[in-house]
Amino acid sequence: MKATRQRDTAAEIAIQQALVQAGVEFDVDVPIIPSTRRRADIVIREQRLVVFVDGCFWHGCPVHGTWPKQNADWWREKLERNRERDADTDQRLLTAGWNVLRIWEHETPSEAVAKILGHVRAL
Ligand SMILES: [Zn+2]
Repeated sequence: MKATRQRDTAAEIAIQQALVQAGVEFDVDVPIIPSTRRRADIVIREQRLVVFVDGCFWHGCPVHGTWPKQNADWWREKLERNRERDADTDQRLLTAGWNVLRIWEHETPSEAVAKILGHVRAL
């Protein structure tokens, strides 16, 4: 089982490298909501864009999300709490004037970067 919050997963690193190549300025692993421990994976301040690279298991990916059968109730509660926290995070950021983009860990770096650049150009 993976750790709850890995720093710089392979997916994140690949995305960061592609953004550098595209000439986008960004910060990584940014504490994003005051008085919480929530952190954004990538922040592009110029466009006020916050990007999260969500792990398929922990964030309940529709393709790869699973509900473990061992300790099913505990897991269900935990995973549902994660989803609620994600939704709450998005809402707080939107209220604070940020744009929010969530990318799944399973997306290829080129897909992810195309999405990010699409947002950057549209903002
Ligand atoms: Zn997935």
